[in-house]
Amino acid sequence: MEQTFIILKPSTIQRGLVGDVLTRFQRKGLQITAMKMAQLTEAILREHYAHLIEKPFFPDLLRSMMATPVILMVLKGKDAVEVVRQMIGSTNCRKAAPGTIRGDFGMSGQENIVHASDSIDNAIIEINRFFKPEEIYDYDLLLKPATYAPDEL
Ligand code: UDP
Ligand code: MG
Repeated sequence: MEQTFIILKPSTIQRGLVGDVLTRFQRKGLQITAMKMAQLTEAILREHYAHLIEKPFFPDLLRSMMATPVILMVLKGKDAVEVVRQMIGSTNCRKAAPGTIRGDFGMSGQENIVHASDSIDNAIIEINRFFKPEEIYDYDLLLKPATYAPDEL
């Protein structure tokens, strides 16, 4: 099944929203296959946000992402990349639809609670960037038969 990469950003840590955001993903039926706390560095952020290095807001984005340690995770499920992107909503929390994580928990375009991979290819790259293979766990989710139809597994 598909896996996607998530960062609970410093805004989530500082605002005490780790449990709320995690609960959303778990209630949806996504399986946590990896999770750890880490202090991000400028070097890894320049790789992760390579598409934004030339933007005027990049120095602020760097500072924001290094302000506190973050929580990194891998979530697994059918069509997990697309499902999670829909759950988090648009980049700017003020424009994100109510009911989405950013729409419900944030007020900022930068301090927007969560990162999630935007494509299957990027999910694979990002998972490998932030996790060693042995940090990702392959275990059977006992609720799977209640979460999916047989032809969805
Ligand atoms: N960002 C920002 N200002 C912008 C666009 C993006 O501060 O105008 C930040 C924001 O934290 C966003 C991150 O840069 O989450 C990565 O931007 P991207 O366009 O990849 O958005 P995302 O995939 O996170 O929705
Ligand atoms: Mg992005």
